[in-house]
Amino acid sequence: MDFDSIIHALIPSSTSVTLLVGFFAYLAIAGSIIPGKLIPGVTLPDGTRLLYRCNGLLSLIFLLVLLGLGAWNKLVSPTAVADRGLELLSTTFIFSFLVTLVLYVAGCRSHDQSSSLKPHVTGILIHDWWFGIQLNPQFMGIDLKFFFVRAGMMGWLLINLSVLAKSAQDSNLSQSMILYQLFCALYILDYFFYEEYMTSTWDIIAEKLGFMLVFGDLVWIPFTFSIQGWWLLSNKVELTTAAIIANCIVFLIGYWVFRGANMQKHVFKKNPKAPIWGRPPKVIGGKLLASGYWGIARHCNYLGDLLLASSFSLPCGISSPVPYFYPIYLLILLIWRERRDEARCAEKYKEVWAEYRKVVPWRILPYVY
Ligand code: NDP
Repeated sequence: MDFDSIIHALIPSSTSVTLLVGFFAYLAIAGSIIPGKLIPGVTLPDGTRLLYRCNGLLSLIFLLVLLGLGAWNKLVSPTAVADRGLELLSTTFIFSFLVTLVLYVAGCRSHDQSSSLKPHVTGILIHDWWFGIQLNPQFMGIDLKFFFVRAGMMGWLLINLSVLAKSAQDSNLSQSMILYQLFCALYILDYFFYEEYMTSTWDIIAEKLGFMLVFGDLVWIPFTFSIQGWWLLSNKVELTTAAIIANCIVFLIGYWVFRGANMQKHVFKKNPKAPIWGRPPKVIGGKLLASGYWGIARHCNYLGDLLLASSFSLPCGISSPVPYFYPIYLLILLIWRERRDEARCAEKYKEVWAEYRKVVPWRILPYVY
């Protein structure tokens, strides 16, 4: 693709705007009417708790059924997304930019503005627009932070499925493509199956909603996490049986650690006496779990996620660094995030955190980091 055709492909058309608006409209309606467990979030600075309706899995299944029926009746093209990837990318980018400008203005006007800084200096204006002003902005009863991350995860699956359809249409469906698609689909379905765990994660409890998060959720997750699929559309990889088995093992270990660690923390927060790996939990200062994965490293869940990310790229072989963009990016992000979380926990738990650091000295990977 030459420069001119890339620029041309990036110009949003009415089709890509319709696809995006239709997707958001579906999510807003489905999120409000489809039944789901109501999960209370963490206690906010004003003492209140938000309620999150965790109906992501049902919303996703219903959407896939609708799209399947549409494709069956030739109303929807399964390759609609894959055919206009760049256009959808720029449309989503513009949407993220605009929505965060609105969020910025709303944040400046809101009474619960958590930043005491006023936007009279350009640097502060950019800082507040980038990192956000409000922790939990709502729109027509919808928690925007929860909404955007849901849109990003579903968007990733929809892009992948469209890429899969394109690969089948072009008769170049490979074992690599099937492995990549299978691992990502399992990861995304698992995310929605355990959607309630999201309510206690860093993004939801600590990050304000600004361009960084909106862009991360809506653009970064669906478009960069699917790079391997796009890459496999035009590159052929021959995998040996041993490579396929090794790849499956990396995925399974990654999943085991990732889900196990996140689940242990979630269970512990609900019931600090619940057994971990069949034994009473070791608890520091009555607040921090130091058993199970949380006794091996202070962020074992990040280790699991990094193994999973690697398993999404390994089906592409080692001929190019391009499919490894996601695990490399995630490594950088999680190291940075671990540092920020560490600072937050040190501030919040004080000497209890210092004690936990002594008991569990490793950050992510024991004996390495
Ligand atoms: P965590 O789920 O690890 O949450 C960190 C919080 O957990 C801390 O702030 C603290 O909050 C609490 N905590 C930390 N240590 C303990 C302990 N020992 N006992 C009890 N509570 C503890 O972080 P994230 O939200 O960053 O990650 C959640 C998942 O999402 C991870 O698996 C991560 O890999 C994944 N992720 C994936 C990304 C991607 O792009 N694929 C991006 C970011 C995250 P509190 O104040 O409540 O105690």
